[in-house]
Amino acid sequence: MGLRELNIDLTKEHLTLWTETKKFLSETWRPAAMELDQMADPADVIAEGSVLWDVLRKTYELEYHTMAIPEEFGGMEMDPLGGALLSELMGWAAPGLAVSWGVCTTPYAYAAYSPAPELQDLVKKFCADKEAKYTGCWAITEPDHGSDWIMFDGDDSGNPDVAAQVRAVLDGDHYVINGQKSAWVSNGTFASHAALWVCMDPSKGMDAGGIAVVPLDLPGISRGKPLNKLGQRALNQGEIFFDNVRIPKYMMVADTPDMYKFFSNAQLGLANAWMGSVFTGCAQAALEESLNYAQTRIQGGKPIINHQNIKLKIFDMFASIEAARSLSRRVGVYNANQLKQMLPPAVHYSMASKVLATETAFRVASQGIQIFGGYGLSKEYLIEKLFRDARAAMIEDGVNETLAIDAAERLSKGRNV
Ligand SMILES: Cc1cc2nc3c(=O)[nH]c(=O)nc-3n(C[C@H](O)[C@H](O)[C@H](O)COP(=O)(O)OP(=O)(O)OC[C@H]3O[C@@H](n4cnc5c(N)ncnc54)[C@H](O)[C@@H]3O)c2cc1C
Repeated sequence: MGLRELNIDLTKEHLTLWTETKKFLSETWRPAAMELDQMADPADVIAEGSVLWDVLRKTYELEYHTMAIPEEFGGMEMDPLGGALLSELMGWAAPGLAVSWGVCTTPYAYAAYSPAPELQDLVKKFCADKEAKYTGCWAITEPDHGSDWIMFDGDDSGNPDVAAQVRAVLDGDHYVINGQKSAWVSNGTFASHAALWVCMDPSKGMDAGGIAVVPLDLPGISRGKPLNKLGQRALNQGEIFFDNVRIPKYMMVADTPDMYKFFSNAQLGLANAWMGSVFTGCAQAALEESLNYAQTRIQGGKPIINHQNIKLKIFDMFASIEAARSLSRRVGVYNANQLKQMLPPAVHYSMASKVLATETAFRVASQGIQIFGGYGLSKEYLIEKLFRDARAAMIEDGVNETLAIDAAERLSKGRNV
C-alpha cells in the first residue's frame, strides 16, 4: 500500500527505488525509531552506542544523504519525483528520523551554491562520507524569535523589533558571530555543521538577514543539553551558543538582501514541501496499522472491520491521505524543478502541502487510536507514537496557523513565491 497506481508517470526505476528503500527503512529505521522513542532521557538518544549512529551510518553507506546534491560533487541528484517518493517512505518508517536525516543535508546543500573552493570541497567530503561524520542542522529559531523568522518576507519584515538575536558583524575578512539559537534546532546537539541564519543589521529587522555555513567545532561555540519533548523523540534537539565566533567571509553564503530572501524562500519552499511528503507517509503508516488491527481484533463475534463505524473511519482516512499525497507529490516535484533552474519555488503551495499533510496525519492517527480502542493509548502499539509524531509536526517548520497567514498574504498580493 502507498505506491498508488494512480501515479501513472512512475518509471521502472521508481518502482525499484520504492521497493528497495521500503525494505531498508522497514528493517533499520522503523525498529530503531521505536527503540529511540522509548528512551526516557533524550541524552541517551545521542549517547555512544545508541542505535541512532548505526542508522545514520547505514543510511550514509547507501548514499541516501547525497540524494539532493548535484552529481558534480559526487551526489545522487535524484529526480524530483523519486525524491518525493523517498520522503514519503521515510515519514512512513520514522518521522523523527526523517527530519533528522533531512536537516543533515541542509548546510551542504547551501555550500554547494557557493563558488568558494573550500565550501565546494566540503560538499565533496559530505558526499564521500560513509560513516556519518559530516552531519548538519538548520539553525534559525531563537528563544525570542520563532514565527518571526517564518514571516521574514511579510509586511513587517523591516521592523527592528523582529530583528534576530544572533548577529554577524563584519571584521576585516571575517564575520564575528554572537548569540543563541533555541533548543528547537534539530540535530543541534551533535551536527558537525550548521546552516546558520543570522542578522547583520538589527535596524533593518528581518530584511538584513544572512545565511552562513558554519563548522560547529570552532572556538566560542557550545551546545545545550538535549530537549525532552512530546513526539519525534528520535529527533534530537538542542541549543547552540555563539560567543565571539570568527568565520571567514566566504562562509557567509547569502550576504545580500536579495540572496538572503531568495535562499530563505527556497528553504521554506523546500522544507515545507518535504514536510508535506514526510507526513503523508506518517498518515499512511497510521492507516496501515489501523486497517491491520481492524482485520484481526474481534468484537461482537467478528473482526471490527465488519462494523460500519470502523469502515467509515478507514474510508475517511484513506480519502484524506490520498488528497495529501496528490498535493505533496505535485508540490515536491514542481518546487524541486524550480530550484534546479535557480527559480524561486511556489512557497504558498509548499505551505498548503505542509499544513494539509500534517493536519491529515494528526487526524488520521487520532482516528486510528479510536479504532484501536484502549490499546491505542498503550505504548506497545505504533499508533500511539505516530499520533505524538504528527502532533509535533503541526508546529515544526512553522506553526500551521502562521504558515497559513503567510501563504494567504502571498496569495492576496498575487505573488508566485
Ligand atoms: C519538532 C520540531 C522541530 C523543529 N526543528 C527546527 C530546526 O531544525 N531548526 C530550527 O531553527 N527550528 C526548529 N523548530 C522550531 C520551529 O520552527 C518553531 O517552533 C516555530 O517556528 C514556532 O516558533 P515558536 O515555537 O517560537 O512559537 P511562537 O512563534 O512563539 O508562536 C506561538 C503562537 O503564536 C502564534 N503567532 C506567532 N507569531 C504570529 C504572527 N505574526 N501572526 C499570527 N500568529 C502568530 C503562533 O501561530 C503560535 O500559535 C522545530 C520545532 C519543532 C516542534
